[in-house]
Amino acid sequence: MASTNHQICIRCVMDTTAKDIRFDEDGICNYCTYFENHVNDVVFESEEERSVRRKQFIKEVKAAGKRKPYDCVMGLSGGVDSSYALHLALQEGLRPLAVHMDNNWNSELATNNIKNLVSGLNVDLHTHVINWPEYRNLMQSFFDADVIDVELLYDNAMLAVNYNQARKYGIKYILSGSNSATEGMPMPQDWNWKKWDKKNIKALGKRGGVKVKTFPSIGIVDYLINRLVYGIQWVPYLDYYDYQKTKAMDLLEEKYNYKRYPYKHYESVFTRFYQGYILPEKFDVDKRKLHLATLVMSNQISREEALKILESSPYPTEKELHTDKKYFLKKMGWTEQTLELYLRREPRAHDEYPSSVILWEFMRKLYKAYK
Ligand SMILES: [Zn+2]
Repeated sequence: MASTNHQICIRCVMDTTAKDIRFDEDGICNYCTYFENHVNDVVFESEEERSVRRKQFIKEVKAAGKRKPYDCVMGLSGGVDSSYALHLALQEGLRPLAVHMDNNWNSELATNNIKNLVSGLNVDLHTHVINWPEYRNLMQSFFDADVIDVELLYDNAMLAVNYNQARKYGIKYILSGSNSATEGMPMPQDWNWKKWDKKNIKALGKRGGVKVKTFPSIGIVDYLINRLVYGIQWVPYLDYYDYQKTKAMDLLEEKYNYKRYPYKHYESVFTRFYQGYILPEKFDVDKRKLHLATLVMSNQISREEALKILESSPYPTEKELHTDKKYFLKKMGWTEQTLELYLRREPRAHDEYPSSVILWEFMRKLYKAYK
């Protein structure tokens, strides 16, 4: 890609590969400014205030779960955030049902981590194993359409599976490992797609000749029904804690024989290959920038350390890249050439295809007005 005025923020590490980035006269970008204005209050809340909020919240969850087999659903990916969230929930005396969506790409490490954690904590685990041939065909349709967010499939199905379990048991709270301290910076608009866009998933599937039969999907209207009719809330649970990633990993290792991943979201072989190879090669996107920029803003890492990490390849070693590439090709039934051709084709936007984006924007405006 031509280096037209490449610029990097002097405070965080976001740069002009985020197309809508803006800098002020000092060279500070809109991403970390957003963090400062909207997320700082949560991340740097005093422990006193936080613990008051936490106690109140736990009380509500327990009350809502009375005479039910569980008082909350906890989404569990096998990554550090959700694993640590589960550990904390048990410490508070909550009675979660752990829910995992297995899309057939779990790394062995992740599978073991989940197993150790669930048995160590003695919680029930519901695993939804995705219909692989259908999922594979949907992935293929996304690749054929040259859209960026292939992980929309995982994220949407994961949301659907969590909400379905909550409804099944009459549970009002879904606690997730999402949090402001490590994820509070907004994703650049063209780096992913709206996670509730069931219409887009179906349209891309249809374009590829796939009819969605068993794939658990969820749209904006489904979300509203879950929220307004069933009263189910999605809660970024780690925002009730002073979440320090390194400390969390140490604790998980010590208590549950947890094995750490080199980077965020590397618990899935596909996510690793997608973020470490496909995104940089085809879309000129390195998601580590956003993640590291967030850690810089929440004082978990210095800007210098973050820049140093970004100098290295997203893959720990060439050998691991090679292994993952081979695994990916075999699983998708691709040749080296299929991959080459795919990488060379121009990316296309999700909303070049049918999508719920108009409804989405409408609801967002409505919500803002209402607020
Ligand atoms: Zn910045």
